[in-house]
Amino acid sequence: MPLRDDAPTSSALFDRALAVSPGGVNSPVRAFRAVGGVPRFFVSGKGAYLTDADGRDYVDLVCSWGPLLLGHAHPAVVEAVTRQAALGTSYGAPNVNELELAEEIVARIAPVEQVRLVSSGTEATMSAVRLARAATGRDKVIKFAGHYHGHSDSLLVDAGSGVATLGIPGTPGVTAGAAADTIVVPYNDLDAVRVAFAAAEGGVACVITEAAAGNMGVVPPRPGFTQGLRDLCDEQGALLVSDEVMTGFRVSPAGWFGLEGVTPDLMTFGKVMGGGFPAAAFGGRADLMAQLAPSGPVYQAGTLSGNPVATAAGLATLRAADADAYAHVDRTAAEISSLASAALAAEGVAHRVQYAGNMFSIFFTADEVFDYDGAKAQQAWRYGPFFHAMLDAGVYLPPSAFEAWFLSAAHDSAAVARVAEALPTAAKAAAAAKEPSRG
Ligand code: PLP
Repeated sequence: MPLRDDAPTSSALFDRALAVSPGGVNSPVRAFRAVGGVPRFFVSGKGAYLTDADGRDYVDLVCSWGPLLLGHAHPAVVEAVTRQAALGTSYGAPNVNELELAEEIVARIAPVEQVRLVSSGTEATMSAVRLARAATGRDKVIKFAGHYHGHSDSLLVDAGSGVATLGIPGTPGVTAGAAADTIVVPYNDLDAVRVAFAAAEGGVACVITEAAAGNMGVVPPRPGFTQGLRDLCDEQGALLVSDEVMTGFRVSPAGWFGLEGVTPDLMTFGKVMGGGFPAAAFGGRADLMAQLAPSGPVYQAGTLSGNPVATAAGLATLRAADADAYAHVDRTAAEISSLASAALAAEGVAHRVQYAGNMFSIFFTADEVFDYDGAKAQQAWRYGPFFHAMLDAGVYLPPSAFEAWFLSAAHDSAAVARVAEALPTAAKAAAAAKEPSRG
């Protein structure tokens, strides 16, 4: 794979970035390590399109890794943000936007009786786990292999997303103590959860699960799995924490909960609720949330939590995302995934398209994927050539075989047509890919 491709300005910018930032990026998967080549530097986004520093535009199937449900620079979001910015960017005191965003979340998602706003999904899950530990007086957390809940120490064990993309077995810097309280079990395997509960002898504070996994590629819960977790948690006196940072407000107005309906004790959100700005949240049962400072003793805080600009963007996004917008995203996801599948089938490339509502990803394997081992068993080496052929044809895919594809309400027929045109060549590239030697 060429180290320098047809992107001279991005190449020059990346060289500068390499001098001042580790790997040239501020979040690992952006660096194109899994697909090779030069990461594109983007200078603007509008609707379904991104424009890079060399002046090329791309249909964006990443949508900032999920947040941009309405596409780039949606007029309602831009208007809300600029109006608020002119009124001040941060008060360090209560503001109306954060109140209204909290009300919107509580109104949409029945299990969330109270909510606390934070700035990232990492903070949301870290804080939810702290609260679960405090509320139960127990230390251990059960998580699933290949699930990613952000990069806090105790949740980074056997994680998906960039950890899966880069094939890192664990992360130096996480203490044995922090890792020891995290029990990792295979996803979609209730028996394994039962065994883990038994081994922990009453020490489990919570089970945390991606509502539908999207960070090892898309792997939805098997029918009955989430309810099974709910039942086991009740039986064992542990809390169920559903991480909807990725699925929340994206796969339906009430996220995965809106599709599946199993009630967790605590939930976490991010991405769409910030409309492209840093806003995230955790919430749930009022009696649990009441244990947070200042109403209770569990400390949690943030200088920019509930930031008025970020919450203006989130509110504008949620308010503009009407039933038509969700129906459009659902339809377009079905259309693009079918086109991709047909193109790969035409070239005889073994693959599975897996869905969680309108989130989907393509695994280069003939077998249905239920867990992280299944995800890792795919022929991920086919993805780089596929990705680059799409990129050359003006379609920006996630630069990793272990990530979901995201669409927006702005992906119109012209955007779909460009993807359709790009796919046959990309499928040929995937078919022609050679497995790298292991030596
Ligand atoms: N939880 C899930 C399910 C996620 O997908 C992510 C990020 O991709 C996070 C938590 C962490 O969110 P953030 O990147 O905002 O810290």
